[in-house]
Amino acid sequence: MRPQEPPSKLHIVSLGDTPEDAEERACSAVQSCFGMNCEILSPEPSPEFALDVSRDQYNSLEILDWLENRFPKPDQWILGITNVDLAIPVLTFVFGEARLGGPSAVISTFRLHEEFYGRSADTLVLLSRIEKEAIHEVGHMMGLTHCLDRNCVMYPSNSLSQTDVKSTKLCPECRSNLYS
Ligand SMILES: [Zn+2]
Ligand SMILES: [Zn+2]
Repeated sequence: MRPQEPPSKLHIVSLGDTPEDAEERACSAVQSCFGMNCEILSPEPSPEFALDVSRDQYNSLEILDWLENRFPKPDQWILGITNVDLAIPVLTFVFGEARLGGPSAVISTFRLHEEFYGRSADTLVLLSRIEKEAIHEVGHMMGLTHCLDRNCVMYPSNSLSQTDVKSTKLCPECRSNLYS
């Protein structure tokens, strides 16, 4: 679903204890990719309401519902960034989730840390992954679906290696689909 109109502004909000600079980097990445205004809001607490105790993971769809109720302005989209592990019922985990066509999305930094895979921390790599996941989910809000070009930011990531291969850019085809 293509949005009727792109939003006047994208708001970014952290939910819980997110990595330093995560919101700033996501904000500037989204701004430079889509040319939209972006503003960082005051942090919100960790989304404990979405905890699925049986999986020890957080339901990303419940977080989207919460974001839409907490920030109910249809012309101002909202992107949450959280450090908790996200999942939906049919998948073991998700890096992020978005409403196609807006107005909300959420990304998780939980599985973007090198430490999660038993390697040493790498801030530059972490922030680059956050940029790609943020742009990818905002791309869905802008109405873009997945792309087969492995370098395109709209290529789906089911594993971190796929995130690392892709760029922070839209391929020419996705870019031409944006406002066509
Ligand atoms: Zn996607
Ligand atoms: Zn593409």
